Amino acid sequence: MKQRLTILGSTGSIGTSTLDVVARHPERYEVFALSAATQVDLMLAQCAQFRPRYAVMASAAHARQLAEKIKQNDLATQVLQAPDALETIASHEQVDAVMAAIVGAAGLAPCMAAARAGKRLLLANKEALVVGGAVFMRAVRDGGATLLPIDSEHSAIFQSLPEDPATWHERVDHVLLTASGGPFRTREPASLRDVTPDEACAHPNFSMGRKISIDSATMMNKALEVIEARWLFDLAPEQIKVVIHPQQIIHSMVQFRDASIIAQLGTPDMRVPIACGLAWPERIASGAPVLDFARLAALTFEQADAARFPGLHLSWQALCAAPGTTAVLNAANEVAVDAFLQRRIRFDQIHALNLATLESVLPSDADTLQSLLALDAQARAVAQQLVLGFN
Ligand code: NAD
Ligand code: MG
Repeated sequence: MKQRLTILGSTGSIGTSTLDVVARHPERYEVFALSAATQVDLMLAQCAQFRPRYAVMASAAHARQLAEKIKQNDLATQVLQAPDALETIASHEQVDAVMAAIVGAAGLAPCMAAARAGKRLLLANKEALVVGGAVFMRAVRDGGATLLPIDSEHSAIFQSLPEDPATWHERVDHVLLTASGGPFRTREPASLRDVTPDEACAHPNFSMGRKISIDSATMMNKALEVIEARWLFDLAPEQIKVVIHPQQIIHSMVQFRDASIIAQLGTPDMRVPIACGLAWPERIASGAPVLDFARLAALTFEQADAARFPGLHLSWQALCAAPGTTAVLNAANEVAVDAFLQRRIRFDQIHALNLATLESVLPSDADTLQSLLALDAQARAVAQQLVLGFN
């Protein structure tokens, strides 16, 4: 039986890499539904190639444009409109697996729908778990879903851990998330004041969406990943450590009680964790180049510098604060990155905005999807207001 897939965010960096892997295995996978925000032409090309039953666009205008082109091209795909349709395609009874590759908290509701419907949920959309936290994990448990990490660090940890999660607590001492350090790893902290969005998006090893590229430059990406690891592997905040490894060959590691460390290695190519999640526990070709040890110069490691990357530590602080604080941090950061990309705040003000929002919004209720979405909206409104006061 072929696995039927829904890909949320199919036009993005993870979405297109997922379709690249899927196209290599037509005997295993069938695309049931795709979704995108605004990229009508790329979505049309994906519909022509993969013939999904449904395609979902984020606005009525984009859905109309796509529907028109689908008709002109004689395709059978039915076009629907977000947000409700995202939950429909994520939980549809004919879907086996959902790739969650929307960026930001916008992906939380469809992830929850997939979790409640007991799907195999391939999670790239880290912000959904950072916002959803315990509520998200409860939905996975109650729905009987299988949650598989796609973020390369978490895929590495997942692959390095013992098979039976019941043994993790007694066997694992801590996990080590590796970080590239981004484009500003060696820059003087003071010189970061005036960097431009294009400089910040120029990641040394990967081409990714703009949000995660900025997050890599501030290391807020790693902060979000610390929070993601806390939930995925049920770790205490102090069991999660970060080490900079610029070559990105070791994708993360697990240190066991006896001081033995197991790491996962490979070339830095997101098709590896994507193929791993799609096929797990089987292994399929991903299309990624294999690691050539003869040409590998050196693997180096260093501590993250707190002056250069002040945002990193917010993750542990938020995890130790009231439930919902990680949702506030995520909302602030989404607003801050967007404001930086629009050149409304400076690079160094991203952290200042995150801090100021955390100080202004104290979560009281974070126990349901509704309350988390309300908290997300409240924190965004506060952060937007704070942006006006920056300059
Ligand atoms: P991207 O910006 O390239 O793609 C995002 C996708 O989501 C696009 O298809 C876009 O149309 C869609 N989208 C954006 N906003 C939306 C909204 N409001 N409603 C519906 N759809 C929307 O981003 P990406 O780099 O592919 O990252 C996707 C997710 O995967 C992020 O959470 C990111 O942190 C995570 N991730 C990415 C990488 C990577 O290498 N790119 C690695 C690890 C994790
Ligand atoms: Mg990652």
